[in-house]
Amino acid sequence: MPELPQDLGNRIHITIRQRLESLRRAGVRQIPKLPVSTIANAPAIAKPPSEPVAPSPLPASRKAGSAVGVTAPTPADATRVPTTAARPAAPAVSAVPAIEMPAEPVALESPLVALDRVRREVVHCTLCHELATTRTQTVFGTGNPHARLCFLGEAPGADEDRQGEPFVGAAGQLLNKIIEACTLKREDVYILNVLKCRPPQNRTPLPEETANCRAYFERQLEIIRPEFICCLGAVACQALLRTTQSVGRLRGRFHDYRGIRVMVTYHPAYLLRSPEKKRDTWEDMKMLMHEMGIPLPGR
Ligand code: SF4
Repeated sequence: MPELPQDLGNRIHITIRQRLESLRRAGVRQIPKLPVSTIANAPAIAKPPSEPVAPSPLPASRKAGSAVGVTAPTPADATRVPTTAARPAAPAVSAVPAIEMPAEPVALESPLVALDRVRREVVHCTLCHELATTRTQTVFGTGNPHARLCFLGEAPGADEDRQGEPFVGAAGQLLNKIIEACTLKREDVYILNVLKCRPPQNRTPLPEETANCRAYFERQLEIIRPEFICCLGAVACQALLRTTQSVGRLRGRFHDYRGIRVMVTYHPAYLLRSPEKKRDTWEDMKMLMHEMGIPLPGR
């Protein structure tokens, strides 16, 4: 079977998952399994045509800008799964009841939309009673939903709780300097925390709070699918990598999280208290930028 480009593979994965979720919401609990002979006779995945395929004519009501739900094409359209109109005809399967597909092509959910869907769930989350009753607001995450690099921190502090954005206080200012020293901008990366709610008095998150919030940060990372994650501090690296090892033991080398390269370094708030550790963090960032293929001045 020809190998699919990773981006196309990810999009197919998301589409199938969305389709299954919508079937589940519609009450479908079982999908009949295709006989092996049907799968074996299925046509191979068509290679992209060398010539552009003329789009199938749309009814006047579906032409761009004239129908509800029809949006202007985005760069992501170029990598979308072909619609049913572009697929080769599949052999008829009489023994197995076919799943009825919608007449309209299923629009792929962009990372921005998918993230917003999770964000709206987080806003109403009360899994951690203490945090939910003391927070000003939830702090979801910010940045580029197509980022190659995500920074994962611990939890919102007082400034973040007030403004609803991660890393906006003194530690956030230092993180901005680190990002700029890497010749990047804050808008190039995505920044999120393990916890979406501020622990009272900025105490360390409890294990059950981390467990409660795990599904949210894992879904954020699943949607963004960055190539690299930089864990800031012990709470972040221990939650992501499911380890009890310290930052000192984990930093300075790459780890793996579901195929994503993970660098561990000190939390900016810790660097403010222990400035002598800034040199170590800079070494970690240089290693990360080298792996990302981003040249740094003077290297
Ligand atoms: S910290 Fe996470 S799991 Fe806990 S209440 Fe806030 S959003 Fe929900």
